[in-house]
Amino acid sequence: MRNVEPDGEPSSSLIGGLRLARRMGALPEQFFSTLVAKTEARVAAGHDVINLGQGNPIDETPPHIVDRLRSMAGELRYQRYVPFSGLSELKASAARWYAARYGVQLDPVREIAITMGMKVALQEISLMVLNPGEEALVADPGYPDYWSGIALAGGIRRSLPLLPANGFQPAWDAAPASRLVFLNYPHNPTGALAGPDTFSGAVAYARRSGAVIVHDLAYGDIVFDGRPATSFLAEPGARAVGLELTSFSKSYNMAGWRLGLAAGSGELIAGLETIQDHLHCSQFGAIQQAGIAALESPSAVVAGQALRYQRRRDALVEGLRQAGWEVAPPGGGIFCWAPVPAGGDAVTFANFLLERADVVVAPGVGFGRFGAGYVRLSLTAPAARLEEAARRIGDVLPAWRDGGSPDG
Ligand SMILES: *Cc1c(COP(=O)(O)O)cnc(C)c1O
Repeated sequence: MRNVEPDGEPSSSLIGGLRLARRMGALPEQFFSTLVAKTEARVAAGHDVINLGQGNPIDETPPHIVDRLRSMAGELRYQRYVPFSGLSELKASAARWYAARYGVQLDPVREIAITMGMKVALQEISLMVLNPGEEALVADPGYPDYWSGIALAGGIRRSLPLLPANGFQPAWDAAPASRLVFLNYPHNPTGALAGPDTFSGAVAYARRSGAVIVHDLAYGDIVFDGRPATSFLAEPGARAVGLELTSFSKSYNMAGWRLGLAAGSGELIAGLETIQDHLHCSQFGAIQQAGIAALESPSAVVAGQALRYQRRRDALVEGLRQAGWEVAPPGGGIFCWAPVPAGGDAVTFANFLLERADVVVAPGVGFGRFGAGYVRLSLTAPAARLEEAARRIGDVLPAWRDGGSPDG
């Protein structure tokens, strides 16, 4: 859909005869749409497809959170516009939660903002920080939603390579200057936890380059083997240079509710709330009340959710090992990151698994060019389905190693 004019500038996008703005053409292509379409066709043809290509939680929102929404939905004060910066009770609750969970003391008024989920906050932050033509560094491989806001802001995306030899941590000494950096630990897609020098390196990098650091802590509650979760804001100096974003989507299975938090630099929080004022008027108050119920959950709630994912991880990694595919167990998050067997091409391999085994995996290059050669398998399926997926993969792996192709 990208039209190129003679001077090489992308023109406005054309949909039918209607002309859309150039920024529509600048938005990154949705890499996984081809795979999604193939998967849907296969399901429609009656195949029993196991979809490990996406990370959509399968477990229910804990009932005490749903009950809070129910009891608050009828309140007049929430049916009206709530304060544009959100409920102060939720901010206060978030400050208590940060202190208890990460030992980080935050001023709830100045240093915490309420978001309508992390996805939109990521776009808002790029719009707030980047001038057209300015550069942003994104963890590569990494979550593709960082790319969209950079494109909407007219910024330039650069890779911050996360290499296996470095435990999927950035090499800060080699990082070029930029205005904005997107980091994420526990990391989607590799499952790596932050290394001991990763956050201190980020703060030092920000001080010498003037960059804003954004740390995506979507999986702070999904950590395995008793390892502690780490907050970027616990790093000395972090608060002066960045923001940390958290989400209710994975910790509490609230992906459909659209609620999240941003915390850190008071200046950045003020900027974020200003742009939010212009774009929307805060989330439904009853949902924010449900967010308070979530943050005040007994610790067994998130611990139980992490354990559920850990059991699924163990089922999948062990099943794949028996199938003859050694995959390193992730330290956190909801994905396994696996090198393509026999060093093959990941897109070809994903097509092969779909057509031969009815198993969907996501080719790693969809998360950036440093993801090439890997596939991502999601833990958002019951353990028995993950074991079944591993069995099916084991049945077809010999054919792949013999040079199988999706058409052969
Ligand atoms: C799932 C996920 C999120 C969650 O985003 P929401 O918009 O809050 O649902 C954010 N970052 C990463 C890396 C994720 O995988």
